[in-house]
Amino acid sequence: MERKVRVRFAPSPTGPLHIGGVRTALYNYIFARQHGGDMILRIEDTDSRRFVPGAEDYINESLAWLGIGIDEGVREGGAYGPYKQSERRDIYREHVKMLLDAGKAYIAFDTPEELEAARAETPNFQYDASTRGRMNNSLTLPAEEVERRIAAGDQYVVRFLIEPGREVKVNDLIRGEVTINSSILDDKVLYKSADDLPTYHLANIVDDHLMEVSHVIRGEEWLPSAPLHVLLYEAFGWSDTMPQFVHLPLLLKPVGNGKLSKRDGDKLGFPVFPLEWHDPKSGEISAGYRENGYVPEAVVNFLALLGWNPGDDSEVMSMQQLIDKFSFEHCSKSGAKFDYKKGLWFNHEYMIAMPDEELAALFMPVLEKKGVTGFTPEYVAKAVGMVKGRANLVGDLWEQGDFFFKAPETYAEKDVRKRWSEDTPRIMEELIGVLDGIEDMTSANAEKIVLGWIEENGYHLGNVMNAFRLAVVGACRGPHMFDITELMPKQEVTDRIRRAIATINR
Ligand code: GLU
Repeated sequence: MERKVRVRFAPSPTGPLHIGGVRTALYNYIFARQHGGDMILRIEDTDSRRFVPGAEDYINESLAWLGIGIDEGVREGGAYGPYKQSERRDIYREHVKMLLDAGKAYIAFDTPEELEAARAETPNFQYDASTRGRMNNSLTLPAEEVERRIAAGDQYVVRFLIEPGREVKVNDLIRGEVTINSSILDDKVLYKSADDLPTYHLANIVDDHLMEVSHVIRGEEWLPSAPLHVLLYEAFGWSDTMPQFVHLPLLLKPVGNGKLSKRDGDKLGFPVFPLEWHDPKSGEISAGYRENGYVPEAVVNFLALLGWNPGDDSEVMSMQQLIDKFSFEHCSKSGAKFDYKKGLWFNHEYMIAMPDEELAALFMPVLEKKGVTGFTPEYVAKAVGMVKGRANLVGDLWEQGDFFFKAPETYAEKDVRKRWSEDTPRIMEELIGVLDGIEDMTSANAEKIVLGWIEENGYHLGNVMNAFRLAVVGACRGPHMFDITELMPKQEVTDRIRRAIATINR
């Protein structure tokens, strides 16, 4: 019988969730939904020294913002809990004992100094079959001595006993079969008495097994751990239900070689975190996609295509379309360049496609920050609709459409020089009169009347219209002039022209 698809996203709360981690979570979610499976969020917090307050909330908030739903987890509950590793100590203790009893693991007392000395003595020292016979462990010490030292409270670790010279096969849905020789592996520490906690490897394998995880979908950086994990499943006698491995391609720098880093983002001006992060220790603030004005659906779409392609030329895809089309066959083995400009392009596309009212709601916080109040949602929606074609980020709507919300304080010098001549004030005075006389300010009607007046008087169309624009907008930019004046109260329009006459001529 086919196994029920159960996948997990298993972040460690050691800081803000990186955008690569978000991509991993997304692929897990998409795969789960595609197969009617379960998506688990497991918090891997066994490394207490690296714990960062706020990181777990940050993970939850990020996934929620992006629409990556969780079926089982710390907040959601579920039949396989607890979903936080620090609450599963008893389970790990019991499993460590199982390995010790079966002779698959052993206790080691070597102090940091002793390990240091061994490293100094033997070049490329590795704790393994070739060296464990001369170290301080339960394989070399008499049983009573081991008992005595544990009873006396000596600190120890439990190490996995790796048999050398074995071919270990890792089956990966993207990479195929990868074989390594067990001799290159060291006897990994599985448990530390000092904090009564397992290490990542043991906790991860035990939990994947107990939570009946069917597919382990994670970043390529975990591929080197996979052979060890295969051996652990075997040592527990769980090989038959071992999850299928899938190691996703790395996210690479947009330019140059190597892994994407926060520094790349700082240098080129894009976030590497989903949400803004306030570091609790240093107080440093790191930019986030949400606060930088990205639409969550665009971020999802952009990330989905970093390492996967739909096999055709579709680009803009909803979550449901991604779920319908996704397959590991179309995932690449090699790393995916983090083309942040493509991310901007996606955001632009999503903003354009979004109903103006929705986009206006996203724009409201920007207006608030600028101290702008008193505009109806309908007004904001119409303004946003007129300028969104020129915006990549929600914040760009301000640069493009600020004049809808406040009168210009300055006038672009270059445009003044080109468009504001000696008789412009007189013509603008006349224009005020013309506008005052127009009852129906809808775009086409106002345009017809104003252009008629220009023609009748033999004025220069470009000069008059640009001076008009300069007065209302502050520069020769923006959407169709009569669309602007249809939306803005007429009084505001004529006030601005008066102010321009007074200010520019001074
Ligand atoms: N806790 C690991 C991490 O932080 C999980 C790796 C895995 O998925 O096995 O990414």
